[in-house]
This record gives sequence, C-alpha cells and structure tokens, in this order.
Amino acid sequence: MKLSLVVPCYNEAENVAEFQKTVIQTFENEAYEYEIVFVDDGSSDATYCNLKKIYEAQKCPVKVVVFSRNFGKESAIYAGIQNASGDYISLIDADLQQRPELVRDMVKILDENPDYDVVAAYQEHRNESKVLSACKKVFYSVINRLTNTELKADASDFRTFRRNVAESILHLGEFHRFSKGLFSWVGYNTCFIPYTACAREKGVSKWSFFKLVNYAIEGIVGFSTKPLRIATLFGTLTGVAALVYLLVVFIQKLVIGIDVPGYATLIILILFLGAAQLFCIGIIGEYVGRIFEQSKERPIYIAKEILDYRK
Ligand code: UDP
Ligand code: MG
Repeated sequence: MKLSLVVPCYNEAENVAEFQKTVIQTFENEAYEYEIVFVDDGSSDATYCNLKKIYEAQKCPVKVVVFSRNFGKESAIYAGIQNASGDYISLIDADLQQRPELVRDMVKILDENPDYDVVAAYQEHRNESKVLSACKKVFYSVINRLTNTELKADASDFRTFRRNVAESILHLGEFHRFSKGLFSWVGYNTCFIPYTACAREKGVSKWSFFKLVNYAIEGIVGFSTKPLRIATLFGTLTGVAALVYLLVVFIQKLVIGIDVPGYATLIILILFLGAAQLFCIGIIGEYVGRIFEQSKERPIYIAKEILDYRK
C-alpha cells in the first residue's frame, strides 16, 4: 500500500521544509510507503528553491509539480491528484494547520473499514471571527437549499480517499472547480471526522473576505441552475404585480380621474425594475461566462516543470 500526500503551495517558502520534517516523523514507523506531491502554484517567493532543495536531498520520496503561474488552489489539487501514484491520496495544506498525524488516523479508518472510500475532516471549532463564521453558516444553508449535492457544513479540503475516488474526480474536467462540491457530487461513502485547525505555522492566509465571497458564488453557480429559476419566478411575480397595478390605475383614471401624475410611484418603479433587470442579467451572465470559459477548453493548469523522484 502506498499513500500520496498532495500539498498545494502558494508562497509557502517558510513552511515546506518544516512540513516535510513533520511528515517524515509521522510516517517513518508506518508499514506502508508514502510520497509527497508538492504543487508549486506559481509562488513568487522562494518556495520553488526550497522545494528543489527538498527534492534533491531525497529524505523521502518527493515529487514537485511547478506551475507556470498562479492557477489557484483548486487547480493545484487537480494537478496533485493527477501526479499522485498512491493507492490512498490525501489532500493537505502546506502550512501545518492540518496535522499529518490526522492523515495517519484517516489511513487507519480506510484500512479498517472497506466500506468507506473517503475520510474527510471538518472543523469542529473555528478560530475566526463570529461574523465570518455566521457568513459561512449562511453560505452552507443557501447552497444546500439551492443544489442537489449535499455539502457538509465546515468540511474542508482536508481528506484522504481511495484511488477510485481520485479517478472519478479527475474525470470531472470542468474549468471552474469547487472541490468540496466535486467530492460530494462523485458520491462514495464518506466518513467525516472532526478536527481543529492549528494556527498557521508561518506566513499569512491567502483568503480575503472577497475571495471567499467569490468562492461561494463559484460553489452555487457551479452546482445549481436554480438561480436561473429564481430569476424566472422573480420576473413572473413582477409581471403579475404590474398587471394588478395596471388595473388599479386604469380604474382610478375611469372613476376618479387622475389629477397629478405620481412622481414618487414612477421613480420607485423605474429604479426597482432597473435593479431587478440588472440582477437577473447578472445571474444569466454568471452562467454564460462559465459556458464561455468552458467552451475554450483551456487546460486546468500548465506545469512548466515536474521533478519526479522516480526518474
Ligand atoms: N494555496 C494555493 N494556491 C492559492 C492559494 C492557496 O495552492 O492560490 C494553498 C496554500 O499554499 C495552502 C492552502 O492552499 O497550502 C490553503 O491556503 P491558506 O492556508 O492560505 O488558506 P486557509 O488555511 O487560510 O483557509
Ligand atoms: Mg491555511
């Protein structure tokens, strides 16, 4: 049996060596083989140099996939899975917020329970602001209502799965990737275990609030067409309301006669309908944009170099 640890790295120069050290300590006494697949996601710091040093030192089997630019964590995950040769594959961050010791437990669960194909960790306690936690809660309830793919709240990308799951994930060649949704979509029996994210070893988180909002929209639009249905319903409702109001105005005109034209009503209607139209066009645009991106059939990532311990 062999385990592959897939590690996306974006500006993690200060963490990669420490990460490898921890992995070696964690797995040296295990009966199975393991390899680390680092993906350098177009880092602008010394990540590449440090990964090269790690690769050349060969303290443990290391593969490094080097991107030609920053393609994002989702692309890095895809490239990592594609380059992993293990029977079990684990997704783990480079910053040691997710402890390699837990991967050992995940492997044990897979070994002992042939029924499970995926062991995923979810964050039991979050060390973040109440506002952010509340936003994430809203996101999960919205996405679970809008999509048919059930997302486990607070599940992270931190997970270990069997080869067949990896093959299924690689089959989904979509350009806009939302891993949590993809894993849920492919199915398989998943065991969820709680974990608490440790503090970041070094460096800063790459997620800003706006990046998270974009990520949330990505998740919803990527897994549901219900927003389009909502736009249709919204348009229908506005149409019905307009018809009712038309009758009211018509009767007013016939019975009492209208003396002064309703300035306030007009302005409110114009603004409201304008906003409603822009909103609906925006929803349609989200989907059209994705069709456009996907139709170009560009690759999910470009690797300019692959350092492979087997060569
Ligand atoms: N990451 C990446 N590409 C990016 C952004 C992040 O490969 O464009 C990696 C990053 O190096 C780390 C993991 O994804 O290993 C998680 O990122 P981060 O720690 O910034 O996120 P957080 O833990 O704060 O959610
Ligand atoms: Mg992190």
